[in-house]
Amino acid sequence: MGDYFERIVDVEVSAAEAGALGARVVDWMVSRGLLTREMSGELMYSWKVEQGYVPGPRWAGIAADWGADWLPGPVAVIVGRHVHHAGQGETEPESATCPHCGTRAVIIDYPNSWEADPVVWQPFSTAIDEWIGTGTGAVTCGTCRTPTPITTWSWSDDVALGALAVEFWHWPPLSETFVAELSAHLGHRVAHHTGKF
Ligand SMILES: [Zn+2]
Repeated sequence: MGDYFERIVDVEVSAAEAGALGARVVDWMVSRGLLTREMSGELMYSWKVEQGYVPGPRWAGIAADWGADWLPGPVAVIVGRHVHHAGQGETEPESATCPHCGTRAVIIDYPNSWEADPVVWQPFSTAIDEWIGTGTGAVTCGTCRTPTPITTWSWSDDVALGALAVEFWHWPPLSETFVAELSAHLGHRVAHHTGKF
């Protein structure tokens, strides 16, 4: 119980803007009765924040019906540059695609391997660390030799880099309509993750 999450990651907002944008999204959800201002750490296991917003009286309108007695957990708003992993655990992404030439760099060659190829992964890992620390980091494509910002690479569905994420803990699946509305409020490209702690 309490170990399932659904997450929307804003993959475009800057770290400087993420706090204010996160606050606006919370205001919007509170105004719709989806959240309260009360904070709790019950039923959530986020690595990045200890507490989230307790659901409001109208939360059930945006999620699947899992029965009248279902109690969802808090909604965590995570501000700051992070690597967000879908699924379970924190494995490296399966692949990354160069924004310049479209070549897909295979980082984990499933099912032949279950671990990242260290030679392929190393420049991405370095650039991600630089991005977390400074907001910029570049990777030079192994095929076209063009260096491009790490945030412009496309990732396989299992990983997203972003400075703002909204995590719904222990909720039934969110409706597609709500996910689209939340994305529209963020006003940027998003990644949509589900997973278990
Ligand atoms: Zn390339």
